[in-house]
Amino acid sequence: MQVESLKRKVLEGGEISPDEAAWLFKEAPRDELREAAHEITDRMSEKTFDFCAIISARQGRCSENCKWCAQSAHWATGCEAHGWVGTDECVRAAKEAEANGANRIGIVTAGRGQSDREIDEISDALKAIAANAKISLCASLGLVTEEQLLKLKSAGLSRLHCNIETAPSHFKSLCTTHTSEDKMKTLRAAKKLGFKLCCGGIIGMGESDDQIVEFAFALKSIGPDSIPVNILHPIPGTPLADAKPLGIERILDIIAILRFVNPRPSLRFAGGRRDLTDDEARRCIHVGVNAGIAGPLLTTPGAVYDDDRALAVEAGYEVGKKELGVMS
Ligand code: SF4
Repeated sequence: MQVESLKRKVLEGGEISPDEAAWLFKEAPRDELREAAHEITDRMSEKTFDFCAIISARQGRCSENCKWCAQSAHWATGCEAHGWVGTDECVRAAKEAEANGANRIGIVTAGRGQSDREIDEISDALKAIAANAKISLCASLGLVTEEQLLKLKSAGLSRLHCNIETAPSHFKSLCTTHTSEDKMKTLRAAKKLGFKLCCGGIIGMGESDDQIVEFAFALKSIGPDSIPVNILHPIPGTPLADAKPLGIERILDIIAILRFVNPRPSLRFAGGRRDLTDDEARRCIHVGVNAGIAGPLLTTPGAVYDDDRALAVEAGYEVGKKELGVMS
């Protein structure tokens, strides 16, 4: 196998197989792999670096036992918990995100899912944001039902975020209170209703090389518009507190393989970005990252708008609004 011929296959609209992806990830010359991923990004994905922002609208005391998460009630992390922040606070955060140049605001709530009363609160906040800010609407609400999605859609929600987090074969060793299939069910329901999907995960949770490839293809099967790539920022008190940090070389190779398998979606810097130096971030952008979550994150430090905007411009991206309004 050769990197050049696999790159050409992707550039011509073809798809590489899991065996080919595994060869690229495990055996191909690193520089060739990363440069080929750069060319695929350059030729096939967005030229505008897409920034979104999130508001942690309900935080902590979560019933689920995700081993990486500061918000799980199963681990003593000292995470600050708070209830629903209210519509006014969501509108304030959306206006701030708009002023900072974000294309989209995501309402994020901790928990396995949402009660119908909570969906009503979120729907009211979505309507208020739409009435007061020129910004697209996203939400990350755990496992949601088709009925709940319909309500959110009529409140103006156009994109749903739900990470699969890692390879399905690895997920069960990281969380036992819900499954990859539970997440797939939510994602399939949202897709059926016409939502755009933002779906990615966290790297650095002990996944094997084969599981990186599996993760890339699981994402492809969902067909998201955006793939957040979180780099584990180990949280004291969680079972992953002592996870060994991924080196930048492995991070770059993972970005390259995600890009080979998913040539068109945005690959989005998310949690863990602040643990990279600007030079390392620059290298990630070169290989395939073309979007970011800027401003405060949930429980780990986020990027500063101006820092990543400058890196994106330096890499030749436009930075600005590309998508406004709500789903028709
Ligand atoms: S990742 Fe989500 S579902 Fe899992 S513990 Fe954290 S807040 Fe709960």
